[in-house]
Amino acid sequence: MTDETQRRRPKASVRAIGNRRLQPNTLMMGHGFDPALSEGSLKPPIFLTSTFVFENAAAGKRHFEGVTGKRPGGAEGLVYSRFNGPNQEIAEDRLGVWEDAEDALTFSSGMSAIATVLLAFVQPGDVIVHSAPLYAATETLIGRILGKFGVKWLDFPAGATPEEIDAVVEKAQALGRVALIYLESPANPTNVLVDVEAVANVRDTRFGTGEDRPPIVIDNTFLGPLWHKPLAHGADIVVYSLTKYAGGHSDLVAGGALGSKAHINTIRSMRNTIGTILDPNSAWMLLRSLETLELRMSRAGENAAKICAWLKDQPKVEKIVYLGFPENERQADIYRRHCTGAGSTFSLYLKGGEREAFAFLDALKIAKLAVSLGGTETLASCPAAMTHLSVPDDRKAALGITPNMVRISIGVEDADDLIADFEQALAEI
Ligand SMILES: *Cc1c(COP(=O)(O)O)cnc(C)c1O
Repeated sequence: MTDETQRRRPKASVRAIGNRRLQPNTLMMGHGFDPALSEGSLKPPIFLTSTFVFENAAAGKRHFEGVTGKRPGGAEGLVYSRFNGPNQEIAEDRLGVWEDAEDALTFSSGMSAIATVLLAFVQPGDVIVHSAPLYAATETLIGRILGKFGVKWLDFPAGATPEEIDAVVEKAQALGRVALIYLESPANPTNVLVDVEAVANVRDTRFGTGEDRPPIVIDNTFLGPLWHKPLAHGADIVVYSLTKYAGGHSDLVAGGALGSKAHINTIRSMRNTIGTILDPNSAWMLLRSLETLELRMSRAGENAAKICAWLKDQPKVEKIVYLGFPENERQADIYRRHCTGAGSTFSLYLKGGEREAFAFLDALKIAKLAVSLGGTETLASCPAAMTHLSVPDDRKAALGITPNMVRISIGVEDADDLIADFEQALAEI
């Protein structure tokens, strides 16, 4: 580290006491920031500046060698706010802690994180193998936008067996260079988990450790970083919409990518070029959010378990698709191997159709009628009429996105208050 880096970083960030490795919860309060470097301010100031003053010309040259990739590892100091900044770097250090990632990056949105990762690894003529369904904008990006540049894709259903995954990867290899394997687990809004370990086995068997080995990228927005840590199950790069659980207060839009130093360096070069970095103000807000991440997610998860157990027995409820109630033995097996919690976002199927779903949504008094998820407040929406309105009808039917499906993200309110709200709304149908 250069002097400049040390000026804004703790000399030695305390990661352990004796043999005890400190937990992410503890590290969120101070890791990556030394108050003595900012007038003793307990919280980091927001660094609203477009550029940084170099100590001397040689330092400026050294930093640009890092920024341009002449020397691997990125800039050693602060250069220009399209490349890096103190608030973003502290947020990146802390984000990486949750999944024991070597390195991490923040982005202006979940989609800008995903787009930057794809642009960093994909070339014209390449093939992307992905699990299906994906977040709608990710499918548009891969199919329609990268498609314009000659990129092809093949998919397998999220719950596919190792044999089915292998067959799709084999077909992809015959089509062209497989640039990456892109996963989203659980799939939205079907809540089907992907067997990340099986995907990693297929990749390792087919590609070994050769140059052409495609990285496995996974969107971990729904369960991460608390309940699902895919880097530990064979994924190489984890991407996030930090807008959801990580931001957690429905007041910021941000994205993240985590992984090995080598992969993150490749992505950082692309981010430096196209300028998809998070702004300092949102990075500061994200630091605020990460301090309570475990508290918020744990409470939301406990609330959802209690509420789903109650909802499942209500006479006007057809079924609930919630990770806590696996649909079959294979999903239960993936859940046991990969997850430490069922999350707080699920699908509620009411008896009836759009009329019943809308009557329920319009009657809610605590839960807000809005898309998005992972915030402190409970949200409910109707995917068939809202987020997935433009999905063709046959695809909607195949994915179980029927007009009577209500998508619910449980927040940190009192669980019994929420049950009272759902009870009175069910009575209004
Ligand atoms: C919201 C979301 C995104 C996109 O994130 P933005 O922050 O809205 O750009 C990507 N993937 C998943 C699973 C999401 O829920």
